[in-house]
Amino acid sequence: MDFPNKRGPDSQHPEPSFYYDLLARDGLEVFREISYGKLRLEVELFDQWFTMPRDDGDYRMERVISPERHRAYMQDAMDVSCGVVDYSQFDILYIVPVHGSAVPFSPTMVGKDRPLSCASGEIGLAVTFGADMYSRKGKLFAHENGHILGLPDLYTYEVTAGAADGFSHCGTWDLMGWIEGLAPDYMAYSKWRLGWIEDGQVACAAADGEFTLTPVETEEGLKLVMIPLDEYHGYAVEYRKPIGLDKALPEEGLLFYRLDGTVCGGLGCLTIIPPEEEQYLRLDRSAPDGLLHPGQTASRDGVTVTALGGGRVRVTRR
Ligand SMILES: [Zn+2]
Repeated sequence: MDFPNKRGPDSQHPEPSFYYDLLARDGLEVFREISYGKLRLEVELFDQWFTMPRDDGDYRMERVISPERHRAYMQDAMDVSCGVVDYSQFDILYIVPVHGSAVPFSPTMVGKDRPLSCASGEIGLAVTFGADMYSRKGKLFAHENGHILGLPDLYTYEVTAGAADGFSHCGTWDLMGWIEGLAPDYMAYSKWRLGWIEDGQVACAAADGEFTLTPVETEEGLKLVMIPLDEYHGYAVEYRKPIGLDKALPEEGLLFYRLDGTVCGGLGCLTIIPPEEEQYLRLDRSAPDGLLHPGQTASRDGVTVTALGGGRVRVTRR
C-alpha cells in the first residue's frame, strides 16, 4: 500500500517485489526450517501499488492500537484493492506499507468470527506489517503467522512478579518470545501442537525414566519429553543444538520448562526453568541462558530433570 502523501513509485523501494522478498520469501524459508518442510503456505504478490484514501499519519498506527483503529486501516486497504484482489480466493491478508510510512509495528488480526469484507470476499486473518520488518524480516513473518496458526506470545506484556523483564519466561529460545534471539526456532511443544512433531516423537514421563532426545532443529527422532502434573499444568524437556535456525548458539543443552494451560499468551504460559534454582532467566540477552549442561539438575513441583550429556535426560518424580 502507499498513501497520498507517500507514493510507492517515488519511494526508496519502488518495486513491490522488494517487500515480498523481505518478508514472504525470507519468511517461507524460515518456516521451511521450523516446520521440517511440513507447512504449506503460498503467498501471492499483487505487484502494484494500492493507494490508501488517507495519509499515513492519519491512521495513527501506534505500538498499542485499538482493534477498531486497526480494523479501519485494514478495511481501507481491502476497499482500495477489492477490484483487483478476489478476496474469496485467500485465507490471509498481508498489508505492507511503503518504506518510510508512519506504521511502526506489525500486529496480527485473528478474527474469523468477525471478518472484514468487501465486494469480492471476506478476510478473518490479517497481518499489517510496519517498520520493524526491515530488521526482523522473515522472522517477523514467522512470528506473526505463528499467531495465525494459533500460537501465543511467549514474551510477557508486563513484567511478572519477581521476573527480570518481559523475556524472563522464554528468553532467547523461540521467535514467538524474542524475534531477534539467538535460538529463534519454535519450542518443541509448539511444533507438536502444530503437528510438525508427531505424537510418536513425544514421550510421556508419567513415572521416573531416562530418555534420549534428538535436537529440535532436525526432523527425526524423539523431540519432547512431557511430564504432566494435572489437566492444565505440566513440564517438558527438549534438546537444542547450534544447527539450522539456532546456528548462532555457542553451545548445546537441554531446556526444562513449565506449561500452564490456565494462562493466556503474553502472560507467561511457558516458563523455562534454569538450572540450580536460579529463579528466572537472566537479563543478558547475548548469552543463551537457561540451558542444562551435562550433570546439571533443575527441579520444580517435585519434578527433577538431570542432563546426562547430549540429548540424554533423567526425569525423577517425587
Ligand atoms: Zn506476537
